[in-house]
Amino acid sequence: MGFGIYIHIPFCKQKCFYCDFASTAKKVDETLYEQYINALCQEITMYQALFPDICIDTIYFGGGTPSILPPNLIIRALNTVKANFALNSDIEITLEANPGTVNEQKLQYLYQNGINRLSFGVQAVQDDLLQKIGRIHTIKEADMAIEMAQKIGFKNISVDLMYGLPGQTLEMLKEAVFWVVNKNIQHISIYGLQIEENTVFGRLYDQGKLILPSEDESEMMYDYLTEQLPKYNYNRYEISNFAKIGYESRHNLAYWQDKFYLGLGAGAHGYYNQKRVQNPFDIDEYIKKCNQKILPFINEEIVDEKAHIEEFCFLGLRMAKGIDKEIFKQKFNTDIENLYGEILPNLEKDGLIINTQKYIYLTFKGMKFGNQVFSEFLLD
Ligand code: SF4
Repeated sequence: MGFGIYIHIPFCKQKCFYCDFASTAKKVDETLYEQYINALCQEITMYQALFPDICIDTIYFGGGTPSILPPNLIIRALNTVKANFALNSDIEITLEANPGTVNEQKLQYLYQNGINRLSFGVQAVQDDLLQKIGRIHTIKEADMAIEMAQKIGFKNISVDLMYGLPGQTLEMLKEAVFWVVNKNIQHISIYGLQIEENTVFGRLYDQGKLILPSEDESEMMYDYLTEQLPKYNYNRYEISNFAKIGYESRHNLAYWQDKFYLGLGAGAHGYYNQKRVQNPFDIDEYIKKCNQKILPFINEEIVDEKAHIEEFCFLGLRMAKGIDKEIFKQKFNTDIENLYGEILPNLEKDGLIINTQKYIYLTFKGMKFGNQVFSEFLLD
């Protein structure tokens, strides 16, 4: 059976002002990196005992900032996966990288040792805007990082861009699009700023000190991205993801296709055997449990059939291809129309979905109002 592996690296140089991901920007003794990877390797071997026969299709090092680690530690974790599981011969191995934490030597080492996809968190192309959102890199560093990666031989590179940022205008976003489409990269992810509690922006927002673009301005930015990127041959294969043909993120597609994956590392989530598990975010607790040879998850939730059907629909609708009705029937022993027969015609009439013989998928308008559509798929 094919599985994905997500490996969480919970360290960052500095916390970006909008970020509530599981990562710490505390100054840590570098020996902690080593202890963390040792624990991760323990966790890998424990999962091998649980799933001796699975084949790994994709590995994704996310964070945090995986590129902050000395590259030999990343490769030690990768080699431990390789030593413990069968790998798909065409495996996709992604590393998230912050342009402010890479150099030629590091990228070269990662490439030579099997990382075949990089995802750069660029977010914006104006240095003052990057500073305003707490990023550590400059646009020159992002330029150099992508150039270096391409020169070394990486042929599958993704860039994240954000919109709706404080002080960002449509013109600034246009510059970002111009910059990215001229980079000859393969994949672009877009993120609208969300204000989260317990972030610098969350606090400034509560104090009325965060000046954001108006709703109309943010909508114009979203419209610009979703209309322009396909014109440059970045096909929108998921609500927020665009790729040249053949360069869709296979790891993320597996999430949206309801496939199983192991989530390794502090704060990581996994999904297998119809349950979702979550590791502790506390790095010391995570290391301690792994060293005691105990699978470290602290939370285990069985996905019952109702929740499974809803999630299958939400995730399926995120993809441009939509919900595969045949797969739905195989999984749930019923036609999707038997459960959602009443809502589908209304959503179609409102121009939010298209319902064909094989698939149900969001229209361009439906992608914009995705949450409204998803809520219709909640079962009573
Ligand atoms: S680099 Fe990524 S994970 Fe780290 S603080 Fe910034 S957004 Fe969050």
